[in-house]
This record gives sequence, structure tokens and C-alpha cells, in this order.
Amino acid sequence: MGSTFKEQESGFTDENILISHDRLFKIDQLRTRNIGKYLPLPQLVAVGDQSSGKSSLLETVTGIPFPRGQELCTRYATQITHRRDNDSFIAVSIIPKPWASAEHKESVEAYSRQMNDTAQLQAEFPAILDEVNICMGIRTPRNPTGQYTFSEDVLKIEKCGPNEDYLTVIDVPGIFRTMTEGITTENDKAMVRNMVIEYIKDPRTIILAVLPANVDVATQEILALAEQYDKAGERTLGVLTKPDLLKERSAKASVCALVLGNRKPLNLGYYIVRNRGGDDDEDDSELSNREDLFRQHPWCNLPDERVGVGALRVRLRDLLGEITDQAFPIIRTELRDMLVESKAQLDALGASRKTSGEQRQYLAAIAAKFQELVRAALDADYSRSKAFKDGELRLITAIVSATECFDLTFKRLSSTYLFVKQEGLGEDDEALEGPASFTNVDSSAYPELGDLMVKDWSTKPPMNGIMGWLETIHRDSRGITLGNVSPAMLASAFRGQSIKWETITKQYLSLTILAVHKFIIKALYNVCRCPIVHQRIAGSLVSELISSYEKAMKQAMLLVEVETQRKPYTLNHYFNDNMQKTRALKMKNQLMPHVESIAMDHPLRENPEVCQYVRPEKILSVVENKGNAEYAREEIHDTLRAYYKVAAKRFVDYVYYLAVDHCLLSGPDSPLLLFSEKWVLGLDDRKLASIAGENQQITDRRAKLEKKVRDLKEAIEIL
Ligand code: GDP
Ligand code: MG
Repeated sequence: MGSTFKEQESGFTDENILISHDRLFKIDQLRTRNIGKYLPLPQLVAVGDQSSGKSSLLETVTGIPFPRGQELCTRYATQITHRRDNDSFIAVSIIPKPWASAEHKESVEAYSRQMNDTAQLQAEFPAILDEVNICMGIRTPRNPTGQYTFSEDVLKIEKCGPNEDYLTVIDVPGIFRTMTEGITTENDKAMVRNMVIEYIKDPRTIILAVLPANVDVATQEILALAEQYDKAGERTLGVLTKPDLLKERSAKASVCALVLGNRKPLNLGYYIVRNRGGDDDEDDSELSNREDLFRQHPWCNLPDERVGVGALRVRLRDLLGEITDQAFPIIRTELRDMLVESKAQLDALGASRKTSGEQRQYLAAIAAKFQELVRAALDADYSRSKAFKDGELRLITAIVSATECFDLTFKRLSSTYLFVKQEGLGEDDEALEGPASFTNVDSSAYPELGDLMVKDWSTKPPMNGIMGWLETIHRDSRGITLGNVSPAMLASAFRGQSIKWETITKQYLSLTILAVHKFIIKALYNVCRCPIVHQRIAGSLVSELISSYEKAMKQAMLLVEVETQRKPYTLNHYFNDNMQKTRALKMKNQLMPHVESIAMDHPLRENPEVCQYVRPEKILSVVENKGNAEYAREEIHDTLRAYYKVAAKRFVDYVYYLAVDHCLLSGPDSPLLLFSEKWVLGLDDRKLASIAGENQQITDRRAKLEKKVRDLKEAIEIL
């Protein structure tokens, strides 16, 4: 019973009463390895009604003088943190409320005081509290202009020293039920309640539910509140204070019934503690004297482990230990994840690179890996590397869909005028499905591509009225020809019809250049995870890359020029097939109205193949029926249509083969082949050092990461 503990200057014995030595040792070891900030350590919070003795209890338990007494009733949360440090001092500061205005935040954060020891703190406490009240804007007799009764700012007292034990203790304002006219409002009440809830819902918090023994426990709201946030009752301790104020025997018996678990039982039970009373003289209120009370009836009949601050401390020490232990496995998992991450970062930095030999080897290895990715990407063999999980590395797939889009856009939109449909010619409808044109592409992440990227990705649809247009061409460019369609006339019509080829081709090239460039940058990042080196390699490649993209664009523009500006010509039999088919179909259509059937009773009627005929003189009338101009116009149209089809197909194929495939993908000057081991071997030592050399930044980073990995490994060992 009666504890032998004597309050000391620090409030703690050398034995570190609240956290066991073994755990303290572990925590210390972790802190020296910089793992401290990842340790969510448990905290104690005293909650209860106003004047129930919360501040007094915390003082009794920890030995830190908390401001207590009626008039100093807590108007904000006070957090006392103990931290192990080589130097002994006490730092006082204010943590601003989360939603503080910038102005308020600045003013409270500016507040800071440093004390040498508890004695100095105790001596200066009243003055400090006055300053804090002014700072937070709390209305008190000494600060009548303050705007608040309560504040959500937190007064933080950090006690540092070589023997401190990382305990955090929080004293919150009491929950009050009756409002004092002119001082506390409904709002204040809700705010204090929320403040209390914020603390007790944290699973690291041990809730000391403070209940004055001289008040009926049934009136104490705090037990219900604690139960709401600690459902299993694993963290809530009932602490009965002020037993000395009880005079009636029945009242004492009722309190004993609580402690014995016979009334309103709590999972972790009730403790009974006597704090320093308001009228107690500092000198004759030594704890051992105060606790003499418990030798008297009826308290002497209670079990020792429930009576006095010594017993409470033993229980708290176990509980804090349990909560710390529960935290350790979680910390261990977090440390493991951090270790994996740090190792990856370290790997990304690669081996140390001081000599040019080391640098060349390092860079050549990156280039080799890069070329491996290039080969896999060109073969669309995406199973070869995990890197291809990133869709943008699937280069050939991107090129194929760009090319399909190019082909479709070409079939649907490339001609200036819509050709007249010829029934039975087929293929005219084939392009009606699929996207109408390229969709807008965002290349802003790659400003280096500059003018190579088109700005306008849209294409106008072909216009109607081709016959009218052809008539003008015919009228304006008639020469002395025997036939109706002169090569010059056809050339001029074709030029007019293919005006959009250049724009569409530029769009297609933009899209493929972007795909290739994205691939190169991303693949490079994949094989060289060090952002500094990645940046430097990309920087040294960029001008050569751009010039190879420009070559591809130039090549495509040459094809546009050749196709659209030269005399139309083809050896493709498909052109003649088309022409003849067109003529035959037209003839058939013109003859249709003149078809006659053989009389029903004619002997030939038995053979269904010859039951229809056209008289030869009718054929003549059909052919002669057309005026010269009309005939010529149709001739130009049909020739143009047959040729356009052949030329467009040829063009689309060649743009892909000669510009995209040859210049951008698999040709000997492909930008994909640029960053290779050969390129690395060709670098002179200075250039090499500027790319692969280590600056202080990288050396430092490696050293830091190496230490971090070592620390983490050791920390995991410790746990
Ligand atoms: P809080 O508002 O809950 O923080 O309560 P305080 O700790 O400020 O205590 C209110 C008053 O009750 C103070 O005057 C304390 O001295 C007094 N008090 C607290 N605990 C005890 C106790 O165990 N016995 C006696 N006699 N007085 C106590
Ligand atoms: Mg208090």
C-alpha cells in the first residue's frame, strides 16, 4: 500500500517509473538511428468534469506541477512531453489550433520560453500562464480584452534530459455541464467536448477517467463518453480522487463498492488516489503523509493494488508497455517497407563512378539495357520486360494505332471534293467506320519537340460539288488535245484534290514522333533511375534526336511533294481495272432503260440466259447522247477517281515505310538506336564525366542512403 515513492525534482525516479527499461532501451536505440519520428508512442490523457482533480492527478502521477485550482481551471489542452536528450532543459511553446488564421498562427508560434529545470518552471508558471492567455486571446481578469473562454491551441511543455522517458501526458479542460452565465456558452461546451474526443479516440491514448469520490458517479458523463471511443474498455482507467473529502460512512461504502467492482464495473477497474488539496500546505502534504488516509477504515479493506498512486503507476506502466508493444510490429512493417524503398533508391544511383573507366562502364551498361528495351519494343515482345506494364512504352502498338488512324483519315477525309459514287464499284463504303480524324494530342510535357508538333489536329471533311469544280478546270485549262482528258488537266485536278495531304501527313508524323520520343525518355528512365543522370543523358541526346525527327518529317514532306506535284502516273493495273470497270458499269446503267424481253411464246424463251436483249441502234443513241463538255467532265472525274484511289494507297504505304519505319523505327539512323554502347564509346572523357560523373550531390545522396539502409536494417534487428 502506501507508496515509498517520493516526488523528485524531475518527477521520475531513476528507475523510469512509467516505461520499462527494456522498452526504453529499444526506443533509445531506434532514436539514435533516426527512427524516432516513426514511433507513435502512447500518451496519457486525464479527462473528467471541471475540478474533478485532473490536473492534480497528473501532477501526482508525473511530479510535474500542472496548473490547478478553481480559478486556474484549464482553458486549453496542455501537453507535457518527455524526450531524451543529452542536455537538460524545459521548452515551452504553443501549437496553434488546426484551423487557426495565418495571423493567429504566426503570433502563437512566435511564443517560446526555455527553462533550466522544474523549479524554474514552477516559479515562473504564473507569469507564463498570463503570457499564454494573452497569446491565445483568452479572457481572464488579467486579460479582460481576450475574445475566448476556451482555446483549441495547445500549450506544449517539452521536458528534455538524459533520463527522460518519452512519455506524453495531456491535461484537457474539464467537461462542464452547467454553463456559467456570461462566461461559458453552448459553443464552448461543444468545443471542449470535441477536444476531449479528439484525444480519447486515438488508440495510443490511455484514458484516465477522473471521478471525484465526493460526487455521485452516476452523474459523470465521462465514463459513457470513454466507453463510446474505447468500446472494449482496454484503455480506460477509472481514477477516484478526493477520498479525504468524504465524511459519511455510506458514501465511503459506495466508493469502495466501485473499487471492488460491485458497482458500475469498468474493464480495467477503478483506482483511488489522494491528491494535494486546495488548502493543503505544501510542506505537510508529502505524499506519504497524505496516503496515511488509506490505512484507515474502510479504505484499508481495499486490495493494495487498487489504492494509492504507487499502485496506479504500476498499472500505467504495464498499460503503456502493452500499447508500445502493440506499436512495435506496425513500426517493424513500416521499417521494412522503408528499407525496400531506400534500397531501390540506392540501386538507382548505381556504383560509385570516379574514374573515366568506371563512368564508361556505368553508362555503357545503361545503354545496353536501353537497347534491350528498344528491341523488345520493336518486336512488340512485351513479355520480355516488366517495364512494359507502362502502356506508353508499348511503342509499336502506339505506332500501329497511329498508322491505322492515318489510313482511315486518309480514306475518309483526304480529298478536297467528294467523288461521285459509282454503284457496283465497291470499296467506296469501306472507310465509313472508325475515327473521323486524329484527336487532339497533348505534347506539352515535351517542349523540346517544338514545331515538330502540329497545333491543329482536326481535318475538314470533303466538300460537295465536284462536277462544278471539274467543269471550271476543264474550261480554264483546255488545250488542243485529241482525247478529252489531257495529262495537264488531270495533273491540275489531282493537285486540287490532294491539297489536304500535307496537313494530314504532318499530323501523322507528329503523332509518331511524339510516340517515339516519349518511348525514348521513358525507357531511359526505366534503365537509369537516377534522376540526375537521366536528365543529363536526355540532355545530351536531345539535339541529335530532334534532327532525326526532322529528317523523318522532311522525308514525309518529300513524298507529299512527289505525289501531289508531279504528273500523275502509275503502273498499277488496278488503275486500268478500275477505269474499265467504271466504263462498263456506266454503259450498263445507260442501257438498262433499253433492255427488252423476248416474247413469252418465242422458242428462245426456254433458255433464261438469253431472255433479254438491247437493239444495236439503241447503243448508238445512248453513246451519242452526251455533249462534249459533259462527256469530258465525266471522263476527268472517272480517271481522277481511279487514279486518286491508287495514288492514295501508294502514298499511305510509303509514308509509313519510308518516313516512319525507315526514319523513326528500324532504319540505320533511327533515333531509337542513338543511345547505344557505341555512342558511349564515342564520348570523350570530358563529355563522359559531365554525364556519368558523380557530383557532390550524388556522392552525398549515396552516403545518406547507405546510412539509412544500415540504420533501418539495425532497427529491424532491434525490434
Ligand atoms: P481539474 O479542473 O479537473 O483539473 O481539477 P484540479 O486538479 O484543478 O482540482 C480542483 C481542486 O480540487 C483543486 O483545488 C485541487 O487541489 C483539489 N483536489 C484535487 N484532488 C484532490 C484530492 O484528492 N483531495 C483534495 N482534498 N483536494 C483535491
Ligand atoms: Mg485542470
